[in-house]
Amino acid sequence: MALLMVPHAGFRFTRGEPARYATTAALSYLFCSNCGSSIGSEYVGDENIIVTIGTLDHPEDWPLNQEGWFGHVYVANKIPWEIIGDNLPKHDQEAPELEEKMLAIQRRAEEMN
Ligand SMILES: [Zn+2]
Repeated sequence: MALLMVPHAGFRFTRGEPARYATTAALSYLFCSNCGSSIGSEYVGDENIIVTIGTLDHPEDWPLNQEGWFGHVYVANKIPWEIIGDNLPKHDQEAPELEEKMLAIQRRAEEMN
């Protein structure tokens, strides 16, 4: 699944609002309440929203080489027949650029509990 992380401030939903499912105190998954499509996710208090590229009006405007991409993450868990055919960075787990951010979010969630 191709995901894009963008600032909330520069993003808006053009038709309705997504339903939210809180998996933890810190993380909610966003999905369409009509058809169940995965729209993305968001961390409480984070300035960014993570959006499923395929749900954008113009996903073709977000090729795998623009700002907002960290390459391929959790590659260690990919299904064996999936072939990654580009030269973007491949991370077995989370992208290093996001690790400190994720740790800060985790700490904030633990403070909330
Ligand atoms: Zn839908």
